[in-house]
Amino acid sequence: MKDNNFSEWYNEIIEKAEILDVRYPVKGLYIWLPYGLRIRNNIISIIKQILEAHGHEEVLFPLLIPENLLRKESEHIKGFEEQVYWVTKGGDKELNVKLALRPTSETAIYPIVALWIKSHKDLPLKIYQVVNVFRYETKHTRPLIRLREITTFKEAHTFHKSMEEAEEQVKEAIEIYKKFFDKLAIPYMINRRPDWDKFPGALYTIAFDTIFPDGRTLQIATIHNLGQNFSKPFDIKFEKIDGSFDHVYQTCYGISDRVVASVIAIHGDKDGLVLLPDISPYQIVIVPIIYKDSKKIVLENSMEIYKRLSKKYRVYIDLREDETPGSKFYYWEMKGIPLRIEIGPKDIKENVVTIFRRDTKERLKVENDSIEKFINDLFNDIYNNLRSKAWKRFEEKIVRIYSLNDIKSGCVNEINLCGKDSCGKYLEDKTGLRVLGEAIDKKEHGSCIVCKELTDKIYRIAKSY
Ligand SMILES: [Zn+2]
Repeated sequence: MKDNNFSEWYNEIIEKAEILDVRYPVKGLYIWLPYGLRIRNNIISIIKQILEAHGHEEVLFPLLIPENLLRKESEHIKGFEEQVYWVTKGGDKELNVKLALRPTSETAIYPIVALWIKSHKDLPLKIYQVVNVFRYETKHTRPLIRLREITTFKEAHTFHKSMEEAEEQVKEAIEIYKKFFDKLAIPYMINRRPDWDKFPGALYTIAFDTIFPDGRTLQIATIHNLGQNFSKPFDIKFEKIDGSFDHVYQTCYGISDRVVASVIAIHGDKDGLVLLPDISPYQIVIVPIIYKDSKKIVLENSMEIYKRLSKKYRVYIDLREDETPGSKFYYWEMKGIPLRIEIGPKDIKENVVTIFRRDTKERLKVENDSIEKFINDLFNDIYNNLRSKAWKRFEEKIVRIYSLNDIKSGCVNEINLCGKDSCGKYLEDKTGLRVLGEAIDKKEHGSCIVCKELTDKIYRIAKSY
């Protein structure tokens, strides 16, 4: 079902694997369940580690933004105007200043950072936060993909003394996200968004896009060079070495719940979730195979191995007595646990355990003494296998196209395009696809697929979420 009705598969797995409860009575708002939340939190701790290794510090700004601040940068508010939720009352009283639920936090953070930064010695400043943001989406909402409350918005904001430094920071952000998505084995392409699709208020936007099983692309990260577009209206100034003053140069970049959606959609299979050992709530589940006459010895043995492995891994032992081993297997496979260890009387006699790999569904007998060594190797194997399978499927969905008539709607089309807005817009109208932007890592001589002008720019167009 994953291949021929992805949408149905996705909705079912969100519910069956207990990622979210989707029954909250407000459109586009969902509840994280314990199992889903653990996956999300493991993913967040990976990005936090990478950001902190790159010198970012975590902060936490308020949810409410006064209207005058939200309106300070004119392009920015134009871009978000239609999506803002407003708080207009405190109890019965009308508020003097309307307060917005942050759709993103630039306008909350920048007036305060203007107070923090005095001199070139305060730069660069690199901060980030993980918060919820609210957007009144009018398009069809979808769990983890299109939300009115984005619950997992990791936004980084950086401040620099020159444009060159801001450009360097964009490159660092690209490296940060590459590391992050590589760690999650999520394939990506990096596109510079066309001007009409950039972040409101940015000089330019660079996006990471992945491809879902149905051939549609999903934007999973964006990086914006803001130049001085915000520092001027927010008056974020610093004293230079020569004593003169300049406005800072800024970047910001973010990821959202869509990362969790990608992990589910890209690695999952017809039997449910398939989780990487790094993010799985449990890395190993132990299922004792119990018969009446050997119950005691099997349980003792299983507990011993459980205690031993718990010192190194996140392990769960399934001792439910009202479920058969078969239904436990089915349950944990659906939940995506990377490894299952089965322990029965025969295994104990032979001094082995049976290990089942969720990703390949292989069953292996392993000597009791060498389980740990074996698991470490298996975790690497699982990661490498999931990563290479995901990249293979990803690359199969990218086609190089030379003529308008050959454009395929279920794929990412790589084409020569001159870069003029008029050619891009024409293409979107004609094909119903979206121009994802210019490939930042690829060039090839040819002629614009629309106006025939010579160019070496490669653009990607696809159906997107
Ligand atoms: Zn053209």
